Amino acid sequence: MHNDIPHLINGKRVSATGRKLPVYNPALGEISGESTVADQKLVNEAVAAASKAFITWSQTTPSQRAKILARYKLVLDSEIDSLAKIVTAEHGKTYIEAVGSIQRGIDVLDYVCGLPGHLQGMYTANVAKGINVYSMRQPLGVCAGITPFNFPAMIALWMFPMALACGNTFILKPSEKNPSCSLKLVELAHEAGVPEGVINLLNGDKETVDAILAHPGIQAVSFVGSSTVAEHVYKTSINHNKRAQAFGGAKNHSIIMPDADLKQAAEAITLAAYGSCGERCMAISVAVAVGDEVADKLVPLITERLHRFKVGPGMEENVELGPLITQQHLDKVLSYVDEGIQEGATAVLNNSRMKPEHAKNGFFMGACLFDHVLPSMKIYRDEIFGPVLCVMRVPDFESAMQLINDHQYGNGTAIFTRDGYTARTFAERVQVGMVGVNVPVPVPVPYHSFGGWKNSVFADTQMYGEEAIRFYTKLKTVTERWPATT
Ligand code: NAD
Repeated sequence: MHNDIPHLINGKRVSATGRKLPVYNPALGEISGESTVADQKLVNEAVAAASKAFITWSQTTPSQRAKILARYKLVLDSEIDSLAKIVTAEHGKTYIEAVGSIQRGIDVLDYVCGLPGHLQGMYTANVAKGINVYSMRQPLGVCAGITPFNFPAMIALWMFPMALACGNTFILKPSEKNPSCSLKLVELAHEAGVPEGVINLLNGDKETVDAILAHPGIQAVSFVGSSTVAEHVYKTSINHNKRAQAFGGAKNHSIIMPDADLKQAAEAITLAAYGSCGERCMAISVAVAVGDEVADKLVPLITERLHRFKVGPGMEENVELGPLITQQHLDKVLSYVDEGIQEGATAVLNNSRMKPEHAKNGFFMGACLFDHVLPSMKIYRDEIFGPVLCVMRVPDFESAMQLINDHQYGNGTAIFTRDGYTARTFAERVQVGMVGVNVPVPVPVPYHSFGGWKNSVFADTQMYGEEAIRFYTKLKTVTERWPATT
């Protein structure tokens, strides 16, 4: 008997019959639970609950909504430990990484608590004789969020608190690979006072997503996942007259200039590349060394650091590399490593078949490092999403930037340098949405916004911050004349 992970509609757990999806504990390599795919009927029920709740929630004042969400933030603060344990159990990342990721989700709640001040409209008096104009931002209605496996708490928290604070109601469809943390997030929202039906959760896969995208009662869809699915979700949503923002995959480069502090850069790049086992859309997966001399010094520094990396279950102390999410994903990453060797890249470190002695059935692999990677290689062109770093060698800064600008993805990037002019030129000209200067993982704080460029995004707006307010509200403009009554 596996733990049954229910849906949550109108504040109540709903267990359904139908097609089952397994959930694994990746450190053990065993099934720990299962969810059921929400079919059209359940999607209809969730939309009906969210539509009904919208009538009252949209009329609740912004400050009252913010007060409830402030209580939610306090509840989440007190539940970080239990949430992190769920994340580690179903995702595999280390407990410390899980805590950090939940904190980055809760940070958005801080911003949400002050949202009423950001929902202001504009007012212009006397646009013509006796006529004033004012505008206001109003909620859209029922919104949906579809999330990936790699940040089961953080990305959900980047979406629904912003939508709710703007007056919308929400249906969350978490990744079928690790839905338990999202379920707990939604239950805690009710515990904090979010009314029934305002936030609902449906489990499922493509079948559920497609039913959501086609449902006429849903006004907007936020998606995070791989680029192929992001494009499908964006185009299908648009075809069904919905607003959509879909964030996709990545291949994030860091440039290491000859004047950089190489020790600092090597440490930063190692943690950015291998943290969360490389299953991060902001992971540095390509280190571009400007000049052979830089590469010849950088590669041994990274290798030495990797020799100290402990691979093992995420709850164990000092572990830095947990398991990958599933056996299927592990097989995919291993096939990229093998392909990299066949393509002629230099495997400086190949721990791909390393497993901890006491957890042989877990979906583990050790860190891999390739040098002399070329732009034509598949390990460079594709997102691998595992603990594999590619080092490339280019003669100068311009070639490094060209490499980045020619890549299909444009999520994040970083430069390591001591020279302000080079850093500024890079930030100005690089074709990437989020840029770090001596900062390897430049995820913006919640009062800025998050989003990539090129094939990393199918959207006009970004996540959280002002951009999300524009996404989750529509503008209404009133032109008024109040003639004197005779
Ligand atoms: P995925 O695309 O396989 O799944 C994401 C969501 O889409 C899940 O909820 C899943 O159930 C659903 N889904 C899967 N296939 C579908 C289909 N054919 N039709 C409709 N829905 C479908 O992604 P994943 O493996 O869960 O997550 C990893 C990917 O997410 C990586 O590519 C990573 O870069 C990306 N990601 C991007 C960001 C970002 O902000 N750009 C953040 C995190 C992860």
